[in-house]
Amino acid sequence: MGDGDSTDGPSSASAAFELVGNEIRAEILRVPSEVRRGELPPALAFSELRDRIDARPGSSQFNYHLRRLLGTYVERRGSGSAQLAAEFVEDEEGYALRPGGTLLTRVVAAMAPPDGGDDARVDPFDADLDCYFCGAAVRARYENRIFQLRCSGCGHLYVYTLTPPGVLAGDPGRAALLDRAATYLRRKYTTFARGGCPLCAGGVEPTIIAPDVVNWPGADRLAAVVRRTCDHCGNTNYALLGTELLHDPELVAFARRHGREVTDVELRTLPFAVTDRHTEVVSEDPYEQAREAFDTVVSALEEAGASAEDVVRTRMFVTDIDDWEAIGRAHEETFGHVRPATSMVQVERLIDPAMVVEVEADAVVDDD
Ligand SMILES: [Zn+2]
Ligand SMILES: [Zn+2]
Repeated sequence: MGDGDSTDGPSSASAAFELVGNEIRAEILRVPSEVRRGELPPALAFSELRDRIDARPGSSQFNYHLRRLLGTYVERRGSGSAQLAAEFVEDEEGYALRPGGTLLTRVVAAMAPPDGGDDARVDPFDADLDCYFCGAAVRARYENRIFQLRCSGCGHLYVYTLTPPGVLAGDPGRAALLDRAATYLRRKYTTFARGGCPLCAGGVEPTIIAPDVVNWPGADRLAAVVRRTCDHCGNTNYALLGTELLHDPELVAFARRHGREVTDVELRTLPFAVTDRHTEVVSEDPYEQAREAFDTVVSALEEAGASAEDVVRTRMFVTDIDDWEAIGRAHEETFGHVRPATSMVQVERLIDPAMVVEVEADAVVDDD
């Protein structure tokens, strides 16, 4: 679903906060990152660096702050320097950001609004999606570094996630904003689901919690929520069970067999992923399950203006080939008079462990 409140960070972070929590030191980091943007941060001579700092510190004051950053975020390059040789950099002399300094300045820049103001926001607009629960328009908005998708009718919250204001960089139109936010969200979920923290690259473990522990609108409609919190940086993510399934190879293969690609589409277009609605297993009896599955196929055909008579091929995936007789009987009752080409394949398991059969049918319908 999104992010929760971060808890207090680990104590090692406090040293980092203390180090950069000073106006002059912040400038010493910012200046090299903004000179010659897009290239490796340059080395600046002591006086060159000092002159570019707005606060105009005196020489000894500047020297004090520069020394505090040396070794961690800044290095001194050049002949006779005792610092580590800078990799991939021409023989430059002066002070330059170390990789840690570059990373830090990029993270800070990513959190700043693109236009320099402090109210990066987009008023609610129609997200071109009807609520899966009530049919009303789902609205998107960006405010307070949060991107959200929420139903204008029942209030169901589909997405609520910390998103850097860079999502608004270059003033994208609404469609492009939805697209960027979806890409960002997808990457975040994928990284978390694979056990990584998308912010700091640390490892995270999932915990399944009851939906009443979270308090977002519509949580009572969910079966459970998967929470992941990064021990290192505090980054927290909540995911629905349906979203989790998107990272299960079996689900991906299942969907593909049914002509549906789930790895490369917007989450909001996958009802099972964003609503937590799920398949219900009505019976563990192979005959009953097969009947149910064939009835569903026939209803879908009828909805599309076709019928069982149009089916030319059926395939059944079964977890136990010894069930062939019971499943075959259900098949005979539905398609016996049609006689489509038929095959039955035994598979290791189906998406729900309680499922013993899954069916596919191809139908050919004339256009006129
Ligand atoms: Zn709704
Ligand atoms: Zn982290």
